[in-house]
Amino acid sequence: ESASEKHQFDAEVPRLMNLIINSVYKNKEVFLRELISNASDALDKVRHEALVDSSIMEAKPELNISIRSYPEKNMLVIRDTGIGMTKEQLREHLGTIAKSGTAEYMKHLEKKGTEGGSESDVNELIGQFGVGFYSAFLVADKVSFATKHPSEAKQHVWTSTGGSDFAIYEDLPENDLGRGSAITLHFKEEDAHLLSSSKLKDLVEKHSSYISFPIYLWSATTETIEVPADEVQDSDKDQAADDLEEEAKEDQGKAEKEDTDADSDSDNDAKDEPEVEDEDDEDKDSNDADQPKTTTKTIEKEEWVQVNAQKPIWLRDPKTIITKEYNDFYQSFAKDTEDPLAYNHFKGEGKVNFRGIIFVPPKQPSDYLQSFQAMVNNVKLYVKRVFITEELGEFLPKYLNFVRVLVDAEDLPLNVSREMLQNTRELHAIKKTITRKAIDMFSQLAENDPEQYQKFLDNFGANIRLGINEDHRNQARLAKLLRFASSHADSGVSFADYVSRMKGGQKQIYYVAAPTLQEAKKSPYVETLLARGYEVLFLTEQLDEYSMQALREFDGKMLRNVAQSGLEFGDEDDETKAAISELKKEYDPLVQYLGEALSDHIERAVISNRLTKSPMAIAANQFGWSGTMERFMKAQTR
Ligand code: ADP
Ligand code: MG
Repeated sequence: ESASEKHQFDAEVPRLMNLIINSVYKNKEVFLRELISNASDALDKVRHEALVDSSIMEAKPELNISIRSYPEKNMLVIRDTGIGMTKEQLREHLGTIAKSGTAEYMKHLEKKGTEGGSESDVNELIGQFGVGFYSAFLVADKVSFATKHPSEAKQHVWTSTGGSDFAIYEDLPENDLGRGSAITLHFKEEDAHLLSSSKLKDLVEKHSSYISFPIYLWSATTETIEVPADEVQDSDKDQAADDLEEEAKEDQGKAEKEDTDADSDSDNDAKDEPEVEDEDDEDKDSNDADQPKTTTKTIEKEEWVQVNAQKPIWLRDPKTIITKEYNDFYQSFAKDTEDPLAYNHFKGEGKVNFRGIIFVPPKQPSDYLQSFQAMVNNVKLYVKRVFITEELGEFLPKYLNFVRVLVDAEDLPLNVSREMLQNTRELHAIKKTITRKAIDMFSQLAENDPEQYQKFLDNFGANIRLGINEDHRNQARLAKLLRFASSHADSGVSFADYVSRMKGGQKQIYYVAAPTLQEAKKSPYVETLLARGYEVLFLTEQLDEYSMQALREFDGKMLRNVAQSGLEFGDEDDETKAAISELKKEYDPLVQYLGEALSDHIERAVISNRLTKSPMAIAANQFGWSGTMERFMKAQTR
């Protein structure tokens, strides 16, 4: 055994650990989610590398995660047969914080801590960034990490009690893991309640159920066995049960014995690994007359039990999945603490076959998080259940950057590279389908749950408006999703509602934009239209006018901003037209005069039939921005 080498953490690490341990973040349970997710990442990596070099599988053919607690020792061991780490990687990955943005993130957290910022803000941040490996120190005051990488003959152990330093030493040969890692957490007394196998099972189910590698938990189980009725007292049969109990105890004892070896925390006795084969025995037919009479007896034992679902949720039939399952899945998938607003689980067929789930988060991320948005990837790509990447760059149109998507494709090669991915026809087809399915989901929400839909619009309405500008193919579909106030109702008016109420002979959809509903209602341009019995849409959202200009029409009806000049109603009779023409002549000198006197302020002065009570109004050019939009554009370009 080589001597243990001491290393100092990078300065940022103790700061991060301090924050995690002492401060605002109370949700200690996330440590398990983080460590399981690291194990799963390591398993993904080994599976990828094995595509090129299958020999790395030999030392450990199975890919799985196993979790075992030793309550009497306040200890938990999480083991994976993933890629492991070399000695150099141990020092680097578990001694520094590599992620960019972490320093700013910490500054923000520290500020929150001292200013007592809201817990949900902090949850959101930690959720998005992940607390990662160091979250082990939420519950443990000592952590050992034994690991074996296929490229190294030696196995190494990293160990730390938090503080400012850690040690690395070579592990004993008898602790050889074959491949992968075993992390041992020495729990703080106050967190010992998390060590019960039922609590661990709950946590895995809640936060890690979608992990696509088997997760085994060492659990107490009861089993009903059959014993011959006339031999109930017989020692043979009882012996069988006793044997099982004995075996369990022995296992436990072994672990304890190992624990006393101070330098070797890794839990790696061959017997402590889950067995991979299926040990389901055939059912015996107890009614069979030829069988001797039997009675049943319940025995308790401990064994490896797989705790995550056999099948990832996205491959299951949606009809068999309840909302709670989607909600739990969303929370672990998106690292959110709240349920999604909506989801759509579907099959894409045709050019490419794939399964997908799209989620709408409960709310728009905070401004602070949005400033990091480039770092938040919202599409996770799997190929045939194998995780490939979440770094697809700008995969979906920008306006959909708020949805969270999982895609599992059948027809892509497993070893596809990122560059290749960007250009495949298949991916293009996937992108198109997801965009459509996302819009379908919004429409369905609008139809089925107006209350939730209002929440959706409050949070993501601006995205829909941007989409109208950005996504011409889906423009008409997106337009149907908009809701406005109008002279008919103060909210919830869709274009379709408006059209259904249009007067006979009406050819245009009228709207006016204003900063508030009150101002829109009082707008001088609206008077005439209301007097003539037309409905007017009141646009009060900043991007409304912008999207109207992009849209231009709905269902063949032109969208008409009533604040712009050149407004004609098409219902004027000849008499009116003649009268207007007379008036124009009569007031021509005034128009001339105003045009010259105000030439610095207006383009031109005209006689208009748009006003009933107000003598005069300033209107925008038919092809220009209205005053409201101008104010908005100025604010944008500042
Ligand atoms: P992240 O997972 O976001 O990279 P973490 O703090 O969770 O950040 O982990 C830091 C790094 O440590 C990982 O990127 C990985 O290289 C390494 N690591 C952590 N756990 C394992 C593990 N079980 N097997 C192999 N490498 C691991
Ligand atoms: Mg991690």
